[in-house]
Amino acid sequence: MAEIADRMAKCIQCGACEKVCPSFRFGGCDPKEVMAGKPGNVTKCVQCGACSRVCKNTDPVTVMLYMKAKAVGSSIPMVYRETGFVRPVSDVSRSELRPVWKDGGQYLMSGCIVESFAPFLIYAGTVAMEVVGEGCTELPKNTCCTYPLPFRTMTFAERDAIKKDMGDSASGKPIVALCPGCEAELRRSDVNATHIVNFLADRKDKLPKFHKKIKVAIEPGCHYSDLLDDMIAVTKALGAEYVDNDFGCCGKAVQGITEPLMEEREAEVEGADVILVACPMCFTRYDAYPNGVPVMHVAELVAAAAGDTRTLAYHKLRPAVF
Ligand code: SF4
Ligand code: SF4
Repeated sequence: MAEIADRMAKCIQCGACEKVCPSFRFGGCDPKEVMAGKPGNVTKCVQCGACSRVCKNTDPVTVMLYMKAKAVGSSIPMVYRETGFVRPVSDVSRSELRPVWKDGGQYLMSGCIVESFAPFLIYAGTVAMEVVGEGCTELPKNTCCTYPLPFRTMTFAERDAIKKDMGDSASGKPIVALCPGCEAELRRSDVNATHIVNFLADRKDKLPKFHKKIKVAIEPGCHYSDLLDDMIAVTKALGAEYVDNDFGCCGKAVQGITEPLMEEREAEVEGADVILVACPMCFTRYDAYPNGVPVMHVAELVAAAAGDTRTLAYHKLRPAVF
């Protein structure tokens, strides 16, 4: 694909990407090698984008995604044609927790991970929006954002057309996403999208306050530069204590890489009542960690401050503080 070849040709083999790559640190993917056209263990790439954030010459993460999709023989699954998402949607919580849709100035977008693993976060999202006085309804074309690997078999123009179609379905209203990956992907195609953390932080004066002491560790995930400050702002506006922890990558579900990364993360957040995340993928990793610190999505923390903790019933690790 010409777009990939162009990006590879611009690599000067400086190695800056290797220094920040969480996978490389544990013997996984070597982005410099992949950019040179070698295998570079690309299947161990956790798709975090740290390489592209430091690279001054090209865009290695886009190459990694393409090469990884090729290496694992990824293709658009039938379930996408049936549901619009690349994984089967989950029934968990859907009949008990119906989203509080209210016509308003924006649409809510869930994303594949929420639909497949944590649909209760859609409910939490609508509650959080209502808490700050904003109604929302489901994005009419609420489908996969085209970030996942299967879409890397398409051309850039084909993916762009899908995203623009999603944006057009909002008819000019902003799209509020529960997943920072979805939000970033839509914005790459100039679709008017924002992450719910940023949306809530802009309305932090309307947030309720906890009436108890809660120690919150913050894990902003791969999109930390767009999210960290607003996650801190929301946490403080809710009257919770931010423990000022270091943060890092959860390693998604890449075996051999996620385990040591999660061990580091859990050690860093030890002592907190709750790990606050903005990313549904991070949510699934922290919630699945045996005896780990319980995790909450930012929409759930806002809902909890308003007295609604119903989504916590669906967590594997329930915060003892609630
Ligand atoms: S991808 Fe960028 S950071 Fe990595 S080796 Fe090439 S030029 Fe350097
Ligand atoms: S996306 Fe992340 S894991 Fe993959 S090569 Fe880049 S820095 Fe490494």
